[in-house]
Amino acid sequence: MQPHFSKTVALLQDLVKIESINPSLAATGSGEQRVVNYLKGFCESLGLPYDIQEVKDGRPNFLTWVEGKNPDRRLLFIAHSDTVPIDNWTSDPFSGEVRDGRLHGRGSCDTKGSLSAMLTALASMAEKKPSCTIVVAASIDEEYRKIGARAIALSGTSYEAAVVGEPTELQLVVAHKGSVRWQVEVEGVPAHTSKPHLGVNAITGMAKVILALDDHNRELSARQQALVSPPTLTVSLIEGGLELTTVPPSCKIWIDRRLVPGERPDDALREVEAIFHTLREKEGVKVRSLLPALEDPAPTSAENSQIALKAAQACAAVAGTGEYIGVPYGTDASQLSLAGIPCIVLGPGSIDRAHTNNEFVELDQLEKSVEIYRRIMVEY
Ligand SMILES: [Zn+2]
Repeated sequence: MQPHFSKTVALLQDLVKIESINPSLAATGSGEQRVVNYLKGFCESLGLPYDIQEVKDGRPNFLTWVEGKNPDRRLLFIAHSDTVPIDNWTSDPFSGEVRDGRLHGRGSCDTKGSLSAMLTALASMAEKKPSCTIVVAASIDEEYRKIGARAIALSGTSYEAAVVGEPTELQLVVAHKGSVRWQVEVEGVPAHTSKPHLGVNAITGMAKVILALDDHNRELSARQQALVSPPTLTVSLIEGGLELTTVPPSCKIWIDRRLVPGERPDDALREVEAIFHTLREKEGVKVRSLLPALEDPAPTSAENSQIALKAAQACAAVAGTGEYIGVPYGTDASQLSLAGIPCIVLGPGSIDRAHTNNEFVELDQLEKSVEIYRRIMVEY
């Protein structure tokens, strides 16, 4: 006999079985289109309206909603439909198998679990008439550039607040970090290494840059924050030199600077530019930043927002959670914050399972998240 699963579990199984690896991360990834096709059928079967928003060739966002008593007020629930690639799985990553109270497979917690729970909660709103219009969106490309959430933020439709589904183990995240990443080059002058004094060594110059950035990182670590750990700067990649017997004419590094709420990418770039200015003036190092940078802003903390308050009440009642926390990783909230939308991040599953070859979501958390989302939809 087949075990009987709830609607949410059955929906999540279906979604996990659809491979939707982000094609920007793995060339063979199918992208989000097939998830959208499935969601279209899902909404049609329930009589829910929907909209398909083309973002990038064959990679659309999907939105569905239940109209509220005051349709001008909109509350957004968003979870991404892309996943990271699969690596070294010993079992079928697209099985959606339920074992030991857990549903297994790529995307189960990151973030098809949240998406399934949001959709089940929304379906239960159909007869309820919530006070504001509840929109559930499946966004594309969260795992790469977050262009799906960006398109929603800039679509011209305004939202009072957003609940971003990510595996937080039903903890209420009101703040998270952002990042800005860019390349830096030091220019040297090539010469034969038998007469190195005729050249300028770009690798030696870069060594000075790296040490200065290391000092800067130490300074950053002293900037204590309330909810998230201090900002950081990591030199994460380096390349330089031509061959063994040439004084290196060029050396490049990549910087990954993590931003805290309130910091803007420009602020971080400006601080580093001041360090480079000193190196140019005092040490003669020909250093420059290669822009544009990849930017993922840190959302403003939502601790004083109405959505955080309502979510805290729902979390406390259903799961005994609801204390405000911050996390170091980024989410779609980075892009939504560009439109000034206060965001909380909340969902079933653990971030420690996301991106691993043993991804799963606990069914208990999955079911509780449905109830938490449902209460937020009713109470907001
Ligand atoms: Zn992820």
